Amino acid sequence: MADKRDYYEVLGVDKNADDAALKKAYRVLAKKYHPDTNPGDAEAEAKFKEASEAYAVLSDPEKRRQYDQFGHAAFEGGAGGGGFDFSDMGDIFGSFGDIFGDLFGGGFGGSRRASNGPMKGASIRTQVRITFEEAVFGCKKELDLVLKDECPDCHGTGAKPGTSPETCTKCGGRGQVRMTQQSLFGMVQNITTCPDCGGTGKIVREKCPGCRGTGYLSNRKKIEVSIPAGIDHGQSVRIREKGEPGTNGGPRGDLLVEVLVSSHPFLQRRDMDLFSTAPISYAQAALGGEVRIGTVDGDVIYEVKPGTQTDTRIRLKGKGVPSLRNSNVRGDQYVTLVVQVPTGLNAAAKDLLRQFDEQTGGSLTNQNGAADGEPKHKKKFGRKKS
Ligand SMILES: [Zn+2]
Ligand SMILES: [Zn+2]
Repeated sequence: MADKRDYYEVLGVDKNADDAALKKAYRVLAKKYHPDTNPGDAEAEAKFKEASEAYAVLSDPEKRRQYDQFGHAAFEGGAGGGGFDFSDMGDIFGSFGDIFGDLFGGGFGGSRRASNGPMKGASIRTQVRITFEEAVFGCKKELDLVLKDECPDCHGTGAKPGTSPETCTKCGGRGQVRMTQQSLFGMVQNITTCPDCGGTGKIVREKCPGCRGTGYLSNRKKIEVSIPAGIDHGQSVRIREKGEPGTNGGPRGDLLVEVLVSSHPFLQRRDMDLFSTAPISYAQAALGGEVRIGTVDGDVIYEVKPGTQTDTRIRLKGKGVPSLRNSNVRGDQYVTLVVQVPTGLNAAAKDLLRQFDEQTGGSLTNQNGAADGEPKHKKKFGRKKS
């Protein structure tokens, strides 16, 4: 998957292409390379898949944003390596009626899927919660999942050992039936799952006692998942072939682990950058000095410049989140320095502050010429005395 082409290049559109341009480009390619118009042509099928994958990602605003930021790495799992989750395509194609409807008549892929051939198992989705730091630095998590395994007695057929499933007569073993319906636009053929066999193409007369005819046994399993450094809330890690078992010798589906990241007490994250605030005293702001600032790598000492105004934003380079693509590349941490106004001053401190004020322009007395620091003007707003 290292030589995957850029999705924009695949569709032949530029980076700013809008939805209409994407759809148009995809429609042309889909028509050209669709397996129904190129039966048995593996290269056309590969091109069709490539274009479909590109369109599926770029037509989804969230996926497009992730792709623009991280490239193909956005959809790569930590454990299983590269790859786009093709199990998503089913949902996506479901909404493609307007693209495929008039091109191919029946449901998408309807004529391609041979239900009695080897079929990949379904993907399973699960979630795992990790801490903010685990998302930043990556981690390993052990998942406790109930997974189906092929029943050893009947080898997944669900039929009692010694018997075999019979071919479904309703669909002739295809698992799908064609239904013809009258619509506004004429006769429409729909291909639907066979109601008699549920799409398996086979009818089991005597059920396997070991699995009660399901063909599967459920087992609790521990699965370790490596979560890559830099993952963000809502992104998924894919583990190949830990999903539902395939049928008729097909591979297992995949396990998709959605990562939920807990919030941090003082850090906020936006993509690869982190944001925080740090209080500094009035004296530190005026005179400069060292302040301690919390980062994901632990506290750092930052030298505040003399005359720092409140809400000054400083950048701690490389203290952000690593890139999913290259963990050696890290974002930055932006820290807003907030000058603290002193409260609860004792008499001596207040006196010094008044002296300080006199030395620096006399803001306490300038307005009305009073010399004792207590304004004589009575038309005041706010509290009379501190
Ligand atoms: Zn069985
Ligand atoms: Zn059937």
